[in-house]
Amino acid sequence: MSAADRLADVRQRIEAAARSAGRAPADVTLVAVSKTHGANRVREMLDAGQRVFGENRVQEAEEKFPDLKAAHPDLELHLIGPLQTNKARDAVRLFDVIQSVDRERLAVALAKEMAHLGRRPACYIQVNTGEEAQKAGVAPADVDAFITACRDTHKLPVVGLMCIPPVDEEPALHFALLAKIAARNGLAKVSMGMSADYEAAVRLGATHVRVGSALFGARPPLEAPTPKTDA
Ligand SMILES: *Cc1c(COP(=O)(O)O)cnc(C)c1O
Repeated sequence: MSAADRLADVRQRIEAAARSAGRAPADVTLVAVSKTHGANRVREMLDAGQRVFGENRVQEAEEKFPDLKAAHPDLELHLIGPLQTNKARDAVRLFDVIQSVDRERLAVALAKEMAHLGRRPACYIQVNTGEEAQKAGVAPADVDAFITACRDTHKLPVVGLMCIPPVDEEPALHFALLAKIAARNGLAKVSMGMSADYEAAVRLGATHVRVGSALFGARPPLEAPTPKTDA
């Protein structure tokens, strides 16, 4: 299948899942996760009409995206991986959306860099819905207070929530929980669902699905573990 065919297939599935839940397909944004794939692969997706991309590492995105963004001013780049505070400036400079805000120190650093650079990428709070020790994200019990601190104290442009459910659990429970937390905090955007479960996420209210392998094919099997943040 060509890049255009894979893209059309994923878009059709998103559309069908949205309609089956009585939602407007236009309310769901496909974030094409291009991590580990080169700029050529991103260009194929751009040629097929895709404009929203996700990367999980600042440095890898810096190697690929400045030229692509210059060539396509309407390209929207999301950071979906853990962010170290010492990379906050680079992240604010390059990304249009930061989906992985998950601790006070990072919120402070982002606020400072946004003021410094005069650029305000939309922020999502990452929620560790499965309360997994090794996973980034704010615990569900702490998230309301953290959202309030980000909005009111740090004045971050918080627009939504993001989660990555545990691999061995029914993702729908986590999707429903994330949507509920977003609703009670008045947040319009909910980023959830990956290649294996994005249709379920759409049925449960995802406004953004993050799809990698279903669009780009398998990633190299020995992908290094995501670096720990400096929390
Ligand atoms: C890699 C990644 C994805 C995409 O995963 P696929 O299973 O390939 O679709 C989505 N979200 C995050 C945070 C990721 O790191």
